[in-house]
Amino acid sequence: MNYYEPLLLTPGPTPVPNEINHALGLPMVGHRSPDFEIIAKKAFNNLKTIFGTDNEVMILTSSGTSVLESSMLNIVNPDDHFVVIVSGAFGNRFKQIAETYYTNVHIYNVEWGQPVDVNDFMTYLSHLEHTITAVFTQFCETSTAVLHPVAELGKALKLFNQAIYFIVDGVSCIGAVDVDLKRDYIDVLVSGSQKAIMLPPGLAFVAYSNRALQRFQEVTTPRFYLNLNKYFDSLQQDSTPFTPNVGLFRAVNAYADLINAEGFENTIKRHYIIRDGLRAALRALDLELLVEDDFASPTVTSFIPIDKDELTHIKSTLKTKFNITIAGGQGKLKGKILRIGHMGKVSPFDILAVVSALEVILTDYRQTNYIGQGITKFSEVIHSEA
Ligand SMILES: *Cc1c(COP(=O)(O)O)cnc(C)c1O
Repeated sequence: MNYYEPLLLTPGPTPVPNEINHALGLPMVGHRSPDFEIIAKKAFNNLKTIFGTDNEVMILTSSGTSVLESSMLNIVNPDDHFVVIVSGAFGNRFKQIAETYYTNVHIYNVEWGQPVDVNDFMTYLSHLEHTITAVFTQFCETSTAVLHPVAELGKALKLFNQAIYFIVDGVSCIGAVDVDLKRDYIDVLVSGSQKAIMLPPGLAFVAYSNRALQRFQEVTTPRFYLNLNKYFDSLQQDSTPFTPNVGLFRAVNAYADLINAEGFENTIKRHYIIRDGLRAALRALDLELLVEDDFASPTVTSFIPIDKDELTHIKSTLKTKFNITIAGGQGKLKGKILRIGHMGKVSPFDILAVVSALEVILTDYRQTNYIGQGITKFSEVIHSEA
């Protein structure tokens, strides 16, 4: 028997708290019934806090990619010119969606592992020959573990040209970061259920500015399931246009209860403390970090083992010996980095476990004594920041 409890530390899906699992197991109700309307109304409202908006948040029954796609189809007209910032695998996904539907797509490439440099980006925009309708970016680029300076970018865009729509993919950080649609000049902010919101996969969320809502009605790009006007019309009736995942809607409300009990500011703080502790621990184990401190995401951390053999050994031994699952790299970082997810239901002690396991694995593999080194650094950070 394996004495180690399974520990899922991927950047989505995440472990799911018991309270949420309980909500998922309640008896089904009809989705066209007052029973569901009560659940739905609560869910639309409950999500406002973590998205930093006064508008009720739309909920689609589909994975995160669906709202990447719908944010584009509902903001960009067929002939518009717009910019996609690509800094990793999920930026590439925005790019692929863009190139599926549109011809006037401008790609701004950022080196993987780096944040967007806002000044450079604004210089790039000012040199484009076309008027731009919208800019799309990730908030946390999950494939590199960078948190982009979205608030700074939003302000700069607003100063540059009031008319530009700013669309942000927050799939892997909403629920763990401070964001405010008005303050940060974000028009559309999307996320999914299985990352920092610690639900099972299957729901996707759209928060929007009033100006974006207006735009959704004017845009002519064809779309059906992803037509956000349908979701907004239904939302006003405490309903959804198509059959929703009723259990997951209940789970949204169970999630909100947990966040309210912890206090959302504390939830954010917990993620940052864990990030800082883990980074100190990895450094103590001579594991190089891909991302600089200033732009490191509070939800996922990427590190660079010495070579591919060490990388494979770490990932597989964590799983076989300690029952801990972490993630590899994606796209051009595949085989180069490992990623530890620490979003949603993670406690400092969960991370202490993976640090301790890494000490054991590296001590054997490198024939260097790391025992106690990572966990000491980790605990020092937890002690000083908590
Ligand atoms: C996971 C993720 C997505 C895609 O979500 P799916 O639910 O897999 O469709 C999009 N963007 C980012 C930043 C992600 O981390």
